[in-house]
Amino acid sequence: MRKIILLFFANCSFLFQAQNLKIIQKPIDYSNEKIKLSLEYLKDHHGLDQKTPKTTPKIIVLHYTAGGTIESNFKYFNNLYLENQRSTLKNQSPLNVSAHFLVDRDGTVYQLVDPEMFARHTIGLNYCAIGVENIGSKAQTLTEKQVDANAELIRYLTRKYPIEYLIGHSEYGVFRNSKLWKESNPKYFTGKADPGDDFMKKVRAKLTDLKLKSQP
Ligand SMILES: [Zn+2]
Repeated sequence: MRKIILLFFANCSFLFQAQNLKIIQKPIDYSNEKIKLSLEYLKDHHGLDQKTPKTTPKIIVLHYTAGGTIESNFKYFNNLYLENQRSTLKNQSPLNVSAHFLVDRDGTVYQLVDPEMFARHTIGLNYCAIGVENIGSKAQTLTEKQVDANAELIRYLTRKYPIEYLIGHSEYGVFRNSKLWKESNPKYFTGKADPGDDFMKKVRAKLTDLKLKSQP
């Protein structure tokens, strides 16, 4: 009897959490040219020869945008090609960076890309990683509402996909010598500071029951 009651309450909390999370669909351009560039990236950098840019997400990577608004970041990610100034990245592929989700400072969650479709946001791990961008920067610290929204979004995604890992972009280097790392160019690596240790600590504190790993 006690078990049944506990189960009942556990289910209620899931329902409550699912109702709390609203995801606004705001898809970026994923037309034929984007598909072509994504397939090239998957092949050239991850060594994966695929017919579609579909992925099986295992890792969630949290980021911050380093400025801007939902609209300015949406506009940026909606471009198919990287701008010329980002030469380190552009030398590797003309495909623009993007992310699956964008979280506003008030905690509103936007979905830009299907979580099972390829997006370029984390070197070496893109082929199996969901990217979550947050509006903010080192100076514009991420908000408590973003902490809550990220935690709810991660909880939702772990129920839908076989997610095993949760990392901040700044932590991705620990995967470099693991089996999960797929990057054909050993020199292609950039140091990252986003979204910050404090934010990661707060999000992880809300998800201890999920037992998501932070390293391979
Ligand atoms: Zn990042």
